[in-house]
Amino acid sequence: MATWRCVQQCGACCHLDPADRPDLDQYLAGEELQLYLSLVGEDGWCINFDRPTRTCKIYPDRPRFCRVQADVFEDLYGIEPEELNDFAIECCRQQIDGVYGNLSPEMEHFDREIS
Ligand code: SF4
Ligand code: SF4
Repeated sequence: MATWRCVQQCGACCHLDPADRPDLDQYLAGEELQLYLSLVGEDGWCINFDRPTRTCKIYPDRPRFCRVQADVFEDLYGIEPEELNDFAIECCRQQIDGVYGNLSPEMEHFDREIS
């Protein structure tokens, strides 16, 4: 069984462009939604994402919606802890597909790392 993990040299989920996330306001509201929108740079990437290294510049202090944790996913998406693994894998694959492409080295890397 595949086991979710975040892989190095990805960052696909840090591409925050709301145009690519039409259901954003279904899982974020109020201050959290405002915070999300405040992080979107002109190019659609999070302003805290360091493009050359593909890392988060505020990782220890990143917002709740950036955290793949059972309590966060249950609260935001209604995902039960036992569903988290498969849901997180699907989320990552969707993001990687949208940002880098389904046949990209990033997708290949992700699939290899979680298998
Ligand atoms: S899309 Fe998934 S693997 Fe890529 S940076 Fe985000 S959490 Fe990590
Ligand atoms: S705050 Fe960090 S983890 Fe969250 S989207 Fe921005 S760069 Fe990515």
